[in-house]
Amino acid sequence: MSFTLAIVGRPNVGKSTLFNRLVGKRLALVDDQPGVTRDLREGDARLGDLRFTVIDTAGLEEATDESLQGRMRRLTERAVEMADVCLFMIDARAGVLAADQVFAEILRKKNAHVIVAANKAEGKAGEAGVLEAYALGLGEPLAISSEHGEGFEDLYTTLLPLS
Ligand code: GDP
Ligand code: MG
Repeated sequence: MSFTLAIVGRPNVGKSTLFNRLVGKRLALVDDQPGVTRDLREGDARLGDLRFTVIDTAGLEEATDESLQGRMRRLTERAVEMADVCLFMIDARAGVLAADQVFAEILRKKNAHVIVAANKAEGKAGEAGVLEAYALGLGEPLAISSEHGEGFEDLYTTLLPLS
């Protein structure tokens, strides 16, 4: 049995960095500028002995009338519908922003199975943001660092029952 995990959240929190680490190939574009890719990307993820499908919600506004928010909302809703479980990522260094609340609301409305992950949690700078993530009311957040590969044991333990 396998499952599909969608990584959702506002631009620049580190979704593609996690996707790339799970897939092990540089399939998703990572960029310092928020919003350079704008699509749903699917890959075969490996985490320890777990094998699953992972979806990265990406997206940049090409010449389109749709607003960034509208597009992110639409792509997120699509990803949620494709997935068995959503990894809702926030940036632990930035804390929970109004934009994150928009995503939390989408996930609640869709009744999605949600795992909250506070990314960029390496070092001390992320501690407050991890605590803020509790207040989203979507369950206990995982503190992870996609860039440094930290917190992946907890991610494994959380995903294991789904496999
Ligand atoms: P996305 O827009 O959500 O897909 O975010 P990206 O994966 O493109 O990452 C946005 C920026 O955050 C890039 O500069 C990444 O290098 C950086 N980033 C991603 N994960 C981490 C992390 O765990 N720690 C830190 N400090 N930076 C990270
Ligand atoms: Mg991305």
